[in-house]
Amino acid sequence: MLLCANHVTRQLILRPSYSGARAWVSRRRDVRRHYSESNGPNIAILGGGITGLSTAFYLREALPSSKITIYEGSDRVGGWIRSTAKGIGSGDVIFEHGPRTLRPTIGLLTPHLIEDLGLAQDVIATRRDAPASTNRYIYYPDHLVRMPMPQAGEGISQVWNEPLFEGIGSALTEWFVSTRPSNLQDESVASFISRRLDRRMADNMVSALLHGIYAGDVNQLSMKSIFPLLWYYEGRYGSLVGSIPSVWSNLRSGMMLGSAREYQSILDRQRKPLGSTLKEKLSRASVYTLKRGLTGLVSALRERLLSRGVTIHENTPISALSMDSATEKIEYQITSAGKSLPQADQVISTVFSRHLANICKDGSGTTLLPSFGETHAVSVMVVNLFFQESDLGMPEGFGYLIPQSIPIDQNPERALGVIFDSCATSGQDSVSGTKLTVILGGHWWDGWTEFPDEEEGVSMARAILSRHLGLNATPTATQATLQRECIPQYLVGHWSRMEKGHQELKQHFKGKLKVAGSSYTGVGVNDCIQSARNLVVDADELAWKDKTGLEEFTGDLRFAEVYFRTRGE
Ligand SMILES: Cc1cc2nc3c(=O)[nH]c(=O)nc-3n(C[C@H](O)[C@H](O)[C@H](O)COP(=O)(O)OP(=O)(O)OC[C@H]3O[C@@H](n4cnc5c(N)ncnc54)[C@H](O)[C@@H]3O)c2cc1C
Repeated sequence: MLLCANHVTRQLILRPSYSGARAWVSRRRDVRRHYSESNGPNIAILGGGITGLSTAFYLREALPSSKITIYEGSDRVGGWIRSTAKGIGSGDVIFEHGPRTLRPTIGLLTPHLIEDLGLAQDVIATRRDAPASTNRYIYYPDHLVRMPMPQAGEGISQVWNEPLFEGIGSALTEWFVSTRPSNLQDESVASFISRRLDRRMADNMVSALLHGIYAGDVNQLSMKSIFPLLWYYEGRYGSLVGSIPSVWSNLRSGMMLGSAREYQSILDRQRKPLGSTLKEKLSRASVYTLKRGLTGLVSALRERLLSRGVTIHENTPISALSMDSATEKIEYQITSAGKSLPQADQVISTVFSRHLANICKDGSGTTLLPSFGETHAVSVMVVNLFFQESDLGMPEGFGYLIPQSIPIDQNPERALGVIFDSCATSGQDSVSGTKLTVILGGHWWDGWTEFPDEEEGVSMARAILSRHLGLNATPTATQATLQRECIPQYLVGHWSRMEKGHQELKQHFKGKLKVAGSSYTGVGVNDCIQSARNLVVDADELAWKDKTGLEEFTGDLRFAEVYFRTRGE
């Protein structure tokens, strides 16, 4: 986490800590207008998910004279963000089929975007002292174990008594564990935790956490890509415990290391503080959403872009991309009858990276971007359930995650977790009752070719609720949605594959094809908006035309020094 929420009211002073970030800043000083005001570039954006829409939003600000066109393959923009209202009696409930909550502490740009779009009044924030923030559970046979809240200094006895926490004592000896070999470039999260701490921590707590974010396998996800700061600390200080004195001393002098990716958003934030409505709502929030669901963000973005002259073509899947070597312009085709579209000076792809690899081929049908062709994504089923009873005897809280260590005979539905929506996003629905979401599948379904249908999904979800929570009531409304290949997985080697992808983009498209979105630098909505902002931040500089969007994967890991000081200090 780059910033603790209680720093929201504090001033941030930033200094990039590594050479790459410094170079970035000095380049910014050397602003050279590449495109004249009257004759801006023709820019095509592939994909109208949150990354594509926010890329267009920031691009419109950075290059007002550019001609921006979004090509969206499906009949609606928003990508995985989709909220529907289910009529119940005289009111309705909001079902989210993709993302549902955002964190205010790590996505500093998103609140600004929400404010710019006039959505501040629609924000529903969950306070940090609300049960949905303090009560997060992991299922460990055969009950829900509440995660201790460090800020409350609680949980010591629980940690010793609950088998879920077995292995945590290894932190006491982590300092004595030898550092990784210098030639080890990456490893799985499970391998790192087992090597430095205890395998049981990887199988239990950490796998549950990764189920909640990536729906992914702790044995395959990349430590370097998912926890870069911990990877860096081991390399720099020899152990995680060994980094504590330095981290502590930094904190005392008001500084912490943060992701260089967030660097730009913090600069933006220094320039323009949040307005009082949103600042008030988010300063004490752990998560937030919008009254009518996150689709509200997509709709507002779409309207804003259309009003600012951005063209959006829905039902327009791009099926081929190539560069005309004479003009260095990019040609693209849409699927129907191979119809050719106007050429673009720059193309920004926000589609799943493996799909991009499939549409960028040479004359013999071989992909020009083989590094992206290897990206794997998991499929999940999202099962929304609404019960008219408000009190079903369930615990209050955000919900619970199910670790990978739970044997399949105790989790035959292959569930990843359950969200208690009526508590987590309280205030969204106009009828009272209990709203839950069960997430099934993820890496458990890797290699499957057939998936449960909607009816099976609902009965699997109900079986889980019955077994884990003793909940046998009949839901008033349900919906099960299969989301195929929806969460890209940053598997071991992701970092070096992205570095190679950067070279491939340079070689075959000379930087005219750029990438952003969930396939590369983070799967959360905040990450996607961040990647859009980072991609276009220097769009008015000459160097931008060669940028691929994957520069951060070249060279060493980079972090920014984030200074926090109370105003006036
Ligand atoms: C079930 C689920 C729950 C999640 N929960 C959360 C959460 O609570 N919080 C959070 O922060 N994040 C969450 N996420 C992650 C987050 O929603 C996604 O990572 C993010 O929405 C991805 O946005 P994107 O624009 O990068 O990609 P996408 O949403 O995939 O958008 C890409 C778009 O490109 C289009 N497209 C594809 N191919 C072509 C083509 N050839 N031509 C033209 N268009 C094309 C697609 O139709 C799509 O609209 C969740 C994701 C899922 C699936």
